Amino acid sequence: MTRCDHCGSECTLPFTCQHCGGKFCAACRLPPNHDCTGISSWNAKPRPAVGAGYARGGGVSATGGIATEPRLRGTKKTATDIPYLKIMAVIIVLVLLGLAWLALTGY
Ligand SMILES: [Zn+2]
Ligand SMILES: [Zn+2]
Repeated sequence: MTRCDHCGSECTLPFTCQHCGGKFCAACRLPPNHDCTGISSWNAKPRPAVGAGYARGGGVSATGGIATEPRLRGTKKTATDIPYLKIMAVIIVLVLLGLAWLALTGY
């Protein structure tokens, strides 16, 4: 068990801050949450890096995936919902007809 360097709570999987080297719990792992001594480098580095990575790697594929998937899902949903109701109605009618036929022939 490791204790968080900031709040002192025991954590099984401590996060090591890359800017000050301290070990922190999940709640304190971000530099602003543990009064990080290297917060100036955190303010400078991660945000452009994350933004660039998101734009390079996920941007193209994400927009392509998001643009195509909801349409397919939407058409699938509407395509499945409407026949589903019709199929249910047909099944109900068939069951009622079957019960009526059984009642007529049985009695
Ligand atoms: Zn903590
Ligand atoms: Zn830190």
